[in-house]
Amino acid sequence: MIMTAIIGFGVISGCGSDRSSEASSSEDFDFFVEQFADLKIMRYKVPGFEDLSLNQKRLVYYLSQAALCGRDIIYDQNGKYNLAIRRTLETIYGSYAGDRDTDEFRDFETYTKRVWFSNGIYHHYSSDKFKPEFSREYFIELVHQSDSSALPLREGETAGEFLEEIIPVMFNPHVLPKKVFSDTGKDIVANSAVNFYEDVTEQEALNFYDRMKIPGDTTPVSYGLNSRLVKENGKLKEEVYRLGGLYDEAISQIIHWLEKASQVAENEKQQAVIDKLAEYYITGDLKTFDEYSVLWVNDLDSRIDFVNGFIETYEDPLGMKATWEALVNFKDLQATRRTEIISANAQWFEDHSPIDERFKKNEVKGVTAKVITVAILGGDCYPATPIGINLPNADWIRKHHGSKSVTIENITYANDQVNLESGFLDEFASGQEEIELVRRYGYQADNLQVDLHECLGHGSGQLLPGTSPDALKNYASPLEEVRADLFSLYFIADIKMLELGLLPDYDAVKAKYLAYIRNGLMTQLVRIEDGKDIEQAHMRCRQIISRWAYEQGKDDNVIEEFKRDGKTYYRINDFEKLRNLFGELLAEVQRIKSEGDYDAGKALVETYYGIRFDRDLHKEVLARYEKLNLAPYGGFLNPNYELIEENGEITDIRINYSGSYSDQMMYYSENYSFLPTWN
Ligand code: ZN
Repeated sequence: MIMTAIIGFGVISGCGSDRSSEASSSEDFDFFVEQFADLKIMRYKVPGFEDLSLNQKRLVYYLSQAALCGRDIIYDQNGKYNLAIRRTLETIYGSYAGDRDTDEFRDFETYTKRVWFSNGIYHHYSSDKFKPEFSREYFIELVHQSDSSALPLREGETAGEFLEEIIPVMFNPHVLPKKVFSDTGKDIVANSAVNFYEDVTEQEALNFYDRMKIPGDTTPVSYGLNSRLVKENGKLKEEVYRLGGLYDEAISQIIHWLEKASQVAENEKQQAVIDKLAEYYITGDLKTFDEYSVLWVNDLDSRIDFVNGFIETYEDPLGMKATWEALVNFKDLQATRRTEIISANAQWFEDHSPIDERFKKNEVKGVTAKVITVAILGGDCYPATPIGINLPNADWIRKHHGSKSVTIENITYANDQVNLESGFLDEFASGQEEIELVRRYGYQADNLQVDLHECLGHGSGQLLPGTSPDALKNYASPLEEVRADLFSLYFIADIKMLELGLLPDYDAVKAKYLAYIRNGLMTQLVRIEDGKDIEQAHMRCRQIISRWAYEQGKDDNVIEEFKRDGKTYYRINDFEKLRNLFGELLAEVQRIKSEGDYDAGKALVETYYGIRFDRDLHKEVLARYEKLNLAPYGGFLNPNYELIEENGEITDIRINYSGSYSDQMMYYSENYSFLPTWN
């Protein structure tokens, strides 16, 4: 599975501590590109690429080409008119001879940009068809004043006939309104516009695949994963995505680049992975895909890694058919080292935890998280981007062979940089000192806190003998997040962090505490609609911790609420006392877990503000947030890789970050568009 994509001002990661929205900046690189509709476009940097060997760079390059070659596939999967519409929009965008300096043309541009963003005409997140803000009459005029020879017409079709076909799809809200239909009680297959089924009912599809399943099979293939199910002469038939099959023209390109990548693989294991993937693309055999997945999950030593294929099934109403996605990355050695240091000291942390001795583990093992740097995004990962990956998806492979879980730090970094400049911090921070601390140390402190949470927090402590692991029932999940977060908040302020070289100085702790309390008491509420409650476990967790510390520290004025110009702010007056409060609550939450004290757990979540909050404050925060006019969804442009050649030999590969969003989209459409319009 991919870990949640970038939504709103915050980023949600895997198990996922929610990395806070702010981070340190002061870098001369424009991460923000542009904003339109409800979308914000950013770009990410690829630090460390220059330090790769020439062979590694070539490998990244060839895999990147393979990642770009499947772009048309995701358009066609997302709806069978998408390629026709995209090509028509691009024809207009590239050749329209009329006036471009009008509101109507700007509306046309916005629509085109949205289609690029969503790889089709459906919103990438809600899956609803989005509506052009310009009229169909204007659209017809645009087409007539553009290069008609470039329109994606069918054989013998006139432009008029073509427009009659696509205009209702674009403009009529009742025609194919939803990509993935999920209202149970109606036919979710027939009502979904996603192009995985043609003339097939839900029941027919279910029966078709049920018949394939082998009773007692403990290593089943992922049935239906790489095909479209169609009806031919009344009979159901799979059109398999493979060389010589559906999407042949794009897949043959992907295979070409995989073959080149294979020649510069870092080692034999990795080469076997790449070769097996090519074999799968050639045959379309799902058993080969499983063999590939097993090889891939066992390739742990290579620096460079990638995803390329039909992987995630979120867009299929039946959850079987996978969209095409690709991503190339290399291990971030420095950040991975950070998690290794933490894990290597796991026992020290356990021994020094402020919890009762009876609840401590005698032997504790930390988890090492692999941190990666993304070099290219493709297919369903572009431009809306995951921030972590956890694959493969097949349950039996995960059980027997494990899975790879990674976080993508250059993406979260870019997102944080953009957020820092968005005005959000300036609006909600208590003052200039806080803003500067957070800008300087926020990102580093956030990463360390997430590492402590993930690598140590969840794994620390033990249940008393006889305590049921299910004793806390529905409160288990928010309480578990509370425990892991408290562990990280307590230890991030430990002198040990400085000794291990994980933090530069104590000011980083201040940055973390300020951001955490502000978020928990106030700013995370921007994600909740007026009148609604907090349901998400991580949000409840942060609110419990912040409210509890605020209330418990009231006598000493540890955290202070104050008003300025009628707006609410929070400042921290005593960081040491706050740390002790975190330690106290950690001891209590660990007791609740170790003893299975359901009533106390329930009281903490229900009474101590896990759910309730000040409605007036909520209204105030929403109003302040709205004024900032921030886009709720974000996506990323790719860098460009440039081959440096001498006498026909590649001597280096350089990276540059030039070009606008539209430039990149038009460039990809010109250079990486291999599929016919109608597939
Ligand atoms: Zn967690």
